[in-house]
Amino acid sequence: SLSNSLAAADIAHSLHPYTNARAHERNGPVIITRGDGVHVYDSEGREYIEGLAGLWSVAVGFSEKRLAEAAARQMAELPYYHTFAGKAHEPQIRLAEKLVEMTPEALTRVFFTNSGSEANDTVVKLVWFLNNALGRPEKKKFLSRIKGYHGITIASGSLTGLPVNHKGFDLPAIPVVHLTCPHHWRFGAEGESEADFCARLLREAEETILAEGPETIAAFIGEPVMGAGGVIVPPEGYWAGIEALCRKYDILLVSDEVINGFGRTGARWGCEKFGFTPDILVTSKQLTSSYMPLAAVLMTDAVYQAIADHTEKLGTLGHGFTGTGHPVATAVGLENLKIIEERDLMGNAARLEAPFQEGLRALGGNPLVGEVRGIGLIAAIEMVADRATKRGFEPAGKVGARAAAFAAEEGLICRALGDTLALCPPLIVTEADVARILERMGRALERTADWARA
Ligand code: PLP
Repeated sequence: SLSNSLAAADIAHSLHPYTNARAHERNGPVIITRGDGVHVYDSEGREYIEGLAGLWSVAVGFSEKRLAEAAARQMAELPYYHTFAGKAHEPQIRLAEKLVEMTPEALTRVFFTNSGSEANDTVVKLVWFLNNALGRPEKKKFLSRIKGYHGITIASGSLTGLPVNHKGFDLPAIPVVHLTCPHHWRFGAEGESEADFCARLLREAEETILAEGPETIAAFIGEPVMGAGGVIVPPEGYWAGIEALCRKYDILLVSDEVINGFGRTGARWGCEKFGFTPDILVTSKQLTSSYMPLAAVLMTDAVYQAIADHTEKLGTLGHGFTGTGHPVATAVGLENLKIIEERDLMGNAARLEAPFQEGLRALGGNPLVGEVRGIGLIAAIEMVADRATKRGFEPAGKVGARAAAFAAEEGLICRALGDTLALCPPLIVTEADVARILERMGRALERTADWARA
């Protein structure tokens, strides 16, 4: 059959990201053939609800004709042009304008990249460029967090605080200090309240800044709600405290909203949800619903002015990708943002937060479930070997992989992050879709508990 020959060709020729290559040679791929709304279908004809919206990204679902048409129109009109040396084109201009309109008022300028990783590399380089411009070349270090995810290139992968992205790759390769992950349930000390935990983390951050020397710390980067690290919602007061430290020690605050942006947390931006104002904001994923690769770095006027001054001195900004502001990607992004606004998909996420989050918490009676957490339309279920001590499984990840496989059999795609199952459905989900996600997840957890017992 076609799917058998495709599978054989995949096994013969591809090296897959985030995949155990030897296991893949044995098991072969799951070939996804088409999408329809919140559903995708595989080559065996099986239907799944895409409970992770692809990779936390397909806001408008998998069959939005307006995006296909926007891409085709732009392909026919001007399929490619670059934005180097002062060249511009309408979709890139309009999307930059739209992003400035849709983000906190302080952010006034946009630089486009092809991916979130490149956007965060761009952040590192712009921050270094800026501090060189300001005559303080020693101010170069980044503060990040353990379990933070910022991408996988040399610089962004260094900012990422997950061992899987460092091991074997000689990362971190840039000066970065990873602070404690703000996850009270997992990292709170015995009997420590959430408020005390938060205060301890803020003390740690300040002590780290002082020990390293504030004159060496350029920026703090964080996801308002961590995504790939396991969907971690920080304690109340955490972001206000981090923002205050950044202001006190003249450290730029970077909000990585690659997952959080466009309503995911129930607010438009994660920084708005948690009430802080970044100097730099990074967005991608839901920006185009991932129909085209695109990311953007937004910055304040102060950041822009310092960079602009330096380009005058050096003659140019020696940074940019062939695809920076790609016309097809930006045209698709613009149409996608129109759809998000016209259909009030950000409002939909806020309205469905309660049934989604409460429904998931109601699955907490399952004996494997240690914690159910999340906000807006993003959530995770962390499974543990022992609920009383929160001890995880040995080896880590086996139960998570089994549970994700059961969920797929039940018709739900979720993501196993170790033994934590993440959900982040398309923003177009309905209340009935949410109910189906909950049913399927519930059955997958029951089957996993039976399997673990056996
Ligand atoms: N930042 C965050 C918060 C992300 O979740 C991701 C991807 O998942 C990235 C950056 C990297 O984006 P990309 O995979 O497009 O390089």
